[in-house]
Amino acid sequence: APAEPTSADVLGLRRQALAEVQENYYEDPPRIERGWRQHLTDLNGRTYLDMVNNVAAVGHAHPRLNAAVSRQWNLLNTNSRFNYRAIAEFSKRLADLLPDPLDTVFLVNSGSEAVDLALRLAQTFTQREDVVCVAEAYHGWTIGSDAISTSTADNPHALTTRPSWVHPVLAPNMFRGQFRGPDAAARYIENARQAIETGRPPAAFICEPFYGNAGGVPLPDGYLPAVYETVRAAGGLCVADEVQVGYGRLGHHFWGFEQQHVTPDIVTIAKAMGNGHPLGAVITRRDIAETFSRNGYFFSSAGGSPVSCTVGTTVLDIIADENLQQNAATIGDHLRRRVEQLAQDHPMIGAVHGMGLYMGVELVRDPHTLAPAPDETAAICERMLDLGVIVQPTGDLLNVLKIKPPMCLTIESADFFADMLARTLRDGW
Ligand code: PMP
Repeated sequence: APAEPTSADVLGLRRQALAEVQENYYEDPPRIERGWRQHLTDLNGRTYLDMVNNVAAVGHAHPRLNAAVSRQWNLLNTNSRFNYRAIAEFSKRLADLLPDPLDTVFLVNSGSEAVDLALRLAQTFTQREDVVCVAEAYHGWTIGSDAISTSTADNPHALTTRPSWVHPVLAPNMFRGQFRGPDAAARYIENARQAIETGRPPAAFICEPFYGNAGGVPLPDGYLPAVYETVRAAGGLCVADEVQVGYGRLGHHFWGFEQQHVTPDIVTIAKAMGNGHPLGAVITRRDIAETFSRNGYFFSSAGGSPVSCTVGTTVLDIIADENLQQNAATIGDHLRRRVEQLAQDHPMIGAVHGMGLYMGVELVRDPHTLAPAPDETAAICERMLDLGVIVQPTGDLLNVLKIKPPMCLTIESADFFADMLARTLRDGW
């Protein structure tokens, strides 16, 4: 029998055939063979605690999901032009998760598609082109979603190369943004107001309602209520990108926008809803959705297929039946306490951002200047891999350990992560 390719063989083949931009994070990445709950196992049978796979929200290789998908594949898979039960029930289920008047669903295959569709809906509805977004954001790779992606970690030239219809405002980051301290929220709101009220009135304002890409940084209190009011007064729509932070991961809230006490006009979701199966959605008001009946078009060949809708419904069933949102709150709070305790001994931990099982541990060289520690962050991630934990850097400065594990994380696993981080910070990397 041919020899099993080694980790290096597979990496070589990958580098030969795959565009380099999709390179992974580690110097010597393990060859991952299988997943189980919050764990990944490599070719040699070594198991790692997976602290980054927010897409596998209900855990890797969930047996109930596998059984439902396999049954549906055997029964029927076709496009959304046919009348089958799964699409009707899943769409209703999604709409019921959102507050009024958000009652109309479009089903797509990814977050990028959802964001693109949201922008096009807003532009068609308002008959305008311009969009206000925030710095340090990632919204996707398609032409539209890439245009409003401003993260300089992903693209160093992001802020100087946006198309003329895109207007980024300051990242409202209270920890290290341009404004800090007691009047910072008001100044970020004023900064956004100027962008909204200057020049051509915008079709939309879009941001993550809880700042995932920046490392789980909460928006300043009152930010979205004030900005949404300004956008609406200017005749624009408010889009909340919940692709990363929505769907129960914050534990104390199912949606990120709840934490800001607002209701958006359009919500985009993906990632967790498919647990790794390509699945995304846009949920909006009926009058906004109907714009396309008069002017525009939407159809997705695989979006909303019976298999996709079965995945979507089963994921929601699992989240409910296994109390995964509650688990995200309980385990997330525990993990936060553990990391905050570590911060007392290690001034390198500048902040513990986030909520529930969306956390960011921001590492700094100096707690006063907040000089970022990107090299240390990368080295700590390498060392954590040696110790059996997968955790990766995020944020524009790549100095935030992003923590977004499957929502079935146990207290033992949370403690294992905290213990290994403690050991790394104590013994060096
Ligand atoms: N929006 C946000 C907030 C995201 O984090 C991502 C993916 N990282 C996307 C959109 C794009 O989603 P996808 O990768 O499914 O196209």
